[in-house]
Amino acid sequence: MPRPSQTITPVTSKTHDWQSHTPVALWRNVRRLTAPNPGLMTGPGTNTYLVGDTANGFIVIDPGPPDAGHVQRLWEACADSQGRGGHIALIACTHSHADHAPAAPMLQALCAQRPSIVGLPSAPTARSNSHFVPDRALQAGELLRLSGTETHTLRAVFTPGHAANHVCFVLEEDGLLFSGDHILNGSTTVIDPPDGHMGDYLDSLDRLHQTCAALDVQHILPAHGGVMDAPLQAISHLKAHRLKREAKVAAVMQAQPDGDLDSWLPLAYDDVPPQIWPVARRSLRAHVEHLQELAAQNRP
Ligand SMILES: [Zn+2]
Repeated sequence: MPRPSQTITPVTSKTHDWQSHTPVALWRNVRRLTAPNPGLMTGPGTNTYLVGDTANGFIVIDPGPPDAGHVQRLWEACADSQGRGGHIALIACTHSHADHAPAAPMLQALCAQRPSIVGLPSAPTARSNSHFVPDRALQAGELLRLSGTETHTLRAVFTPGHAANHVCFVLEEDGLLFSGDHILNGSTTVIDPPDGHMGDYLDSLDRLHQTCAALDVQHILPAHGGVMDAPLQAISHLKAHRLKREAKVAAVMQAQPDGDLDSWLPLAYDDVPPQIWPVARRSLRAHVEHLQELAAQNRP
């Protein structure tokens, strides 16, 4: 598939150019505005991506936390050819976490034509601050199209694991994967049971690998951190990293069969700083549950 827009903007020079006030143009049809919520769990902040153009309107991916200033700037950035803001066709959320979805209804309320909010409803396992009901639930593989002078097509790829209602999007014309929190740049995704699930997470990584190969995806645009090149290698590396950790967890459990999460944690995560351990403990639980599931499957 010819991709004229790939030649427009060199990505690498923009990768670390975090902007919370002015959107950064990554491709001709894709801009990034980072919410002003940097932190341990959010890196430089939540990346909101704007896909589209002044003629056709925009799809806003992950409007972010409930920050009125950020929402106002998103509205202004999505201007029509007369410079009027709020030219938004659709608001898409990768998942329901508090740093991704709560701005969606705020942004919708600012727009005269009230664009639909799409995504997947949060599962009953979601924490109370992650309750989310989209106006319309996406179907797996569904295509979201902006058509006019040119067409922008986002394909929905269901990727449970970080959250039960997680979905990624591929911008087919440009070969870009919007990975939400499933794949991050510069930090490791937390898998927090019961809404997070390690087996689902690994299966979703395989699905993303297949999708990136089939659709010739060239770059990953994560919800936290900069643009990533070489998607297939990045995904394979991530999976290997998880399996290596899981093997370490299995060895620690075998060495201390009467232990518990608290005694296994410093051994299984001895390579990460102790201030990360409270977060790592959640992923440890996910690994332990996954190992127990695998053992149950192998039992006669
Ligand atoms: Zn999240």
